[in-house]
Amino acid sequence: MAEFVGSQRIFDHIVIGAGIEGSSTAYQLAKNNKVVLLLEQFPLPHSRGSSHGKSRITRYTYAEEHYMAMMPENFRCWKVLEDEVGKELYKKTGLLGIQDGFGDEYKASRELLKRNNLKFSDITATDACRRWPGLRYSPSHGMFLDQNAGILKADRCLEAFREMFLKYGGVLQDSEPVQRITPGTMVTVETNEATYKAKNIVVTPGAWASKLLRPLGLHLPLKVWRINVCYWKMKCPEELRNMPVFIDYSGSHHVYGLPCLEYPGHVKICYHVGNEINDPELRDLKAGGRQNDIETLKEYVRAHFPSLEPQPSIIETCIYTVTPDDGPVLDVHPVYPNIVIGCGFSGHGFKLAPVVGQILSDLATGRKPSFDISHNKISRFNLQTSRL
Ligand SMILES: Cc1cc2nc3c(=O)[nH]c(=O)nc-3n(C[C@H](O)[C@H](O)[C@H](O)COP(=O)(O)OP(=O)(O)OC[C@H]3O[C@@H](n4cnc5c(N)ncnc54)[C@H](O)[C@@H]3O)c2cc1C
Repeated sequence: MAEFVGSQRIFDHIVIGAGIEGSSTAYQLAKNNKVVLLLEQFPLPHSRGSSHGKSRITRYTYAEEHYMAMMPENFRCWKVLEDEVGKELYKKTGLLGIQDGFGDEYKASRELLKRNNLKFSDITATDACRRWPGLRYSPSHGMFLDQNAGILKADRCLEAFREMFLKYGGVLQDSEPVQRITPGTMVTVETNEATYKAKNIVVTPGAWASKLLRPLGLHLPLKVWRINVCYWKMKCPEELRNMPVFIDYSGSHHVYGLPCLEYPGHVKICYHVGNEINDPELRDLKAGGRQNDIETLKEYVRAHFPSLEPQPSIIETCIYTVTPDDGPVLDVHPVYPNIVIGCGFSGHGFKLAPVVGQILSDLATGRKPSFDISHNKISRFNLQTSRL
């Protein structure tokens, strides 16, 4: 039931940022009968943040137990959302884990899949190349198959959360950048259009987190990277038919890929690292910057995907917001307990969004989250924080 002070509506919660994490949190809160306002700075849908595009990998494979422990619930919740909206959000392809030699992350991921009795199998590089003739890896490559992994249809997932949020009675305002947050028992949120009040807010602004949180005395060690998203034309599509998604753990940064989904005749293969830009507004200005990542990818494709053209025909941009340990922040503000924060998803947050939504809504409503979030606390950074 909505409350008013004079003519002003008081929300139970305001969620700032309608990317996948904010949309999932807003959906979760509204589904639990809370009065929720979701604010987004850009007109929706947009491609200025981290959640746009048609595809994201989802997998049980993780080298850290606490993220792997979230995955069964994530898979279950994506299915619930799929049933709610009546659209396919997930396509099972399997995930091929690859490592030339046996590195720590590959080994830890494989061990955890085994220990948790998840459906996986080892496969030799020779067998993999026989099964998908468009691949070329030498027998020195170790490989495993996470059989239940696949692709989330990213744009549909985002749309599904928003659609259901509105069905559960949520209020969505796009084209409304939040310009100021004033803490208090009742938090005041000012946009370019209006002033809103809520008992609690959830801040999920992606790459704009530092801009919103610094004025609240919180200086998180976040870095913003511009990522080149590369699509490679297939010379011989039948050689990559039923190709799984893959992550190659060899080298200092992963290379990952997804079968043809976005652009007909094109496979997506990317490098899990980007160029640091810090200010997300500079994303396009720096578009002509360092190209080393694309050169690395060209070499990779030439070596391992002989049935692809060895240069990308489409390059798009996206943003990672990265923490020093690659783990997101899921916590309350150290000084203002009615300000909840979810940011720094470090390039792997899409698949986690349903559980992130549960955790942030638990924190917002004063419940103890049912997952271990000790690794996601702000206190791990040993920051100085001050009251406004
Ligand atoms: C190329 C690429 C590939 C990826 N691949 C995978 C993958 O395979 N699997 C996986 O799990 N993850 C993947 N990720 C990571 C995943 O997409 C991100 O972790 C996730 O989308 C982060 O979502 P977010 O909601 O935190 O950020 P965003 O999507 O950026 O959302 C934040 C929103 O807040 C809004 N906002 C900011 N400031 C304000 C303000 N002042 N007022 C109002 N609104 C504001 C922004 O406009 C934006 O819409 C990938 C990311 C990229 C870039």
